[in-house]
Amino acid sequence: MPELPEVETVRRAMQRHLVGRRVVAVYTSNKKLRAPVPAARLRRLAGDTFTAARRRAKYLLLDLESGPSLLVHLGMTGNLVFRAPGEKHDHVVFELDEGLPLVFSDPRRFGLVLVLGPGEEAACPYLSDLGPEPLEAGFDAAYLAARCQSRRRPIKALLMDNVVVVGVGNIYASESLFRAGIHPLTPADQLSGEQTKALVREVKAILRESIRRGGTTISDYLGKGEGGRFQQRLAVYGRAGENCLVCEAPVESAVLGGRSTFYCPHCQEK
Ligand SMILES: [Zn+2]
Repeated sequence: MPELPEVETVRRAMQRHLVGRRVVAVYTSNKKLRAPVPAARLRRLAGDTFTAARRRAKYLLLDLESGPSLLVHLGMTGNLVFRAPGEKHDHVVFELDEGLPLVFSDPRRFGLVLVLGPGEEAACPYLSDLGPEPLEAGFDAAYLAARCQSRRRPIKALLMDNVVVVGVGNIYASESLFRAGIHPLTPADQLSGEQTKALVREVKAILRESIRRGGTTISDYLGKGEGGRFQQRLAVYGRAGENCLVCEAPVESAVLGGRSTFYCPHCQEK
């Protein structure tokens, strides 16, 4: 599943390669994604030019000159690539004035492609109730400490709650807690000031590292087939039973809120 670093990588690719391109025509499959694809509204984008690629949480917002924005979520298996269309799971194709078309493909169809008119972004239900971006200044130790206060919820569940902070998925929550030395099941209100500070620092550091490397599962978003999938070296995530990279104790796993969580019982204090 594309996580925040992958989505940011796609945003950067769109900023570089899509901005300035004019839409010549838009084609859609008749398949429903997470929400129905607004075929007529998409077709009306013909003639309009992309002016910016923004990101909010794991949503991409691709702005057009005349006012609307394209809202794209990659869901579980979605992809936004420049390539020739016609593959089985291609759902939206933007023919552009120059170069290869932009194709949104998504085999499992949990993704989303919508058109937001001017002023519709503020009222968009997908974008409301989102907490701060993890890499922005608003997400700091004082903020997290305030959100942890009087909360008995395990810190990992709180960290993965989009109302608290957006875009910290299971992999990054597990890895940042390991690096901060905090057991994932620790009640949020039990964290010390030092632990809160360390956790914020590690969340930011690991996301930045991952963005620098192009995300953990970045495939060939630009359709150039370069590099294939990249798997960042993970310390605990997906490594149950294997040795901790720091102390060599076996990594353990537990199920929390229906999601597997991984930790080192020796390096991570409860
Ligand atoms: Zn360890």
